Amino acid sequence: MALPTPETFIPDLTVSAPGRINLIGEHTDYNMGYVLPAAVDKTIVFRFRRRPDVFRASFYSQMNQKGFTVSLDAISRSAQSWENYLLGVLAELSKRTDRVQGFDCEIESSLPAGSGLSSSAALECGLAFGLNELFGLGLTPWDLIALSRDAEHHFVGMQCGIMDQFASVMGREGHAMLLDCRSLEYSYHPLKLHPYKLVLLNSHVSHSLADSEYNLRRAQCEEGLSIIRQRFPVAGTLREVSPEMLLACQGSLSTVLYNRCAYVVSENERVLAAVDALEQGDLQRLGALFYSSHEGLRKQYEVSCPELDFLVDYTKKIPGVLGSRMMGGGFGGCTLNLVHEKDAEGFVGEITTAYQQQFGLQLTSFEGVPSSGVAVVGKKDA
Ligand code: ADP
Ligand code: MG
Repeated sequence: MALPTPETFIPDLTVSAPGRINLIGEHTDYNMGYVLPAAVDKTIVFRFRRRPDVFRASFYSQMNQKGFTVSLDAISRSAQSWENYLLGVLAELSKRTDRVQGFDCEIESSLPAGSGLSSSAALECGLAFGLNELFGLGLTPWDLIALSRDAEHHFVGMQCGIMDQFASVMGREGHAMLLDCRSLEYSYHPLKLHPYKLVLLNSHVSHSLADSEYNLRRAQCEEGLSIIRQRFPVAGTLREVSPEMLLACQGSLSTVLYNRCAYVVSENERVLAAVDALEQGDLQRLGALFYSSHEGLRKQYEVSCPELDFLVDYTKKIPGVLGSRMMGGGFGGCTLNLVHEKDAEGFVGEITTAYQQQFGLQLTSFEGVPSSGVAVVGKKDA
């Protein structure tokens, strides 16, 4: 059957869902710790149109130049991995409501996929939010966040935490968000970085082990915690483990498990220190925390790669850079850099040349502008 095309498609509803950056707090969300993300101004736009046939939905992704249709009463996993982000949301919605009816959905993206900016969460949250609006499902923002996360667990097989979906839904212009992933309490913090700014460098590498290593790290943290709990039963999650408790258990943990846990314990402390540094306007300290986060991710958590390490190390030779670290799950994607506005252009030029010489790869760069969360941007008859 014919799929909707831009020419024939007059949407009933248009929704924009952002990707996210994360200032600090990597791999802490699924350990019930702290994270400090912000939504960004790169988004996935969804155009929805109701269909007369109640049980069918169609999708078309301009990025993939591909589409598919699905019967809403027979949703199952697809062999095409990108379809599972969308099918997963439909499956999770069907557990919560029977009010989703037939629709067409066209997807257009300015968000690079697989670069650590969480295009996956934008894809899930934009669909969930759009269908909630289109069919008046009455789901809360937290319902949308949780069901989008569950979609990724159950249909994609990525045991992600809650940060990415939280950021895509709750983002606020000009602000970062401190989220306590245990209590789900959160607070907005103005990102006052002037005269510095956040520059993202996309390494354009995406190593295939990212998903399996991610799930392995999660399992290692759980294993480490179970050993720590034999001595300190009060520690329900790694979040409750202090540096002193961890040290007391060092003899019972393998080096790998100790390092994984040590990274998480320190990274949680760094997130709180980063919020404090932001509040004090201490950008030097914020930058130093970026560097130590990267060291932990590289040496203790072992989720970096030579390309990201090169990019972070190289910034230490360039004036005007206060801090740099890999961002996202690891093994590729972007680095996040805190750079003086007047040095930003020279910084990008110099590091692009060096990276090209070292790896034969072309960097792309853009500014990380903290932006608002998923929203309706167009409605028929409105
Ligand atoms: P990230 O979330 O950091 O971008 P992931 O590997 O978690 O990286 O998610 C990227 C995947 O999401 C892509 O490989 C693709 O399957 C899917 N995806 C993202 N954007 C789109 C899009 N516009 N159209 C179709 N699929 C997309
Ligand atoms: Mg993702």
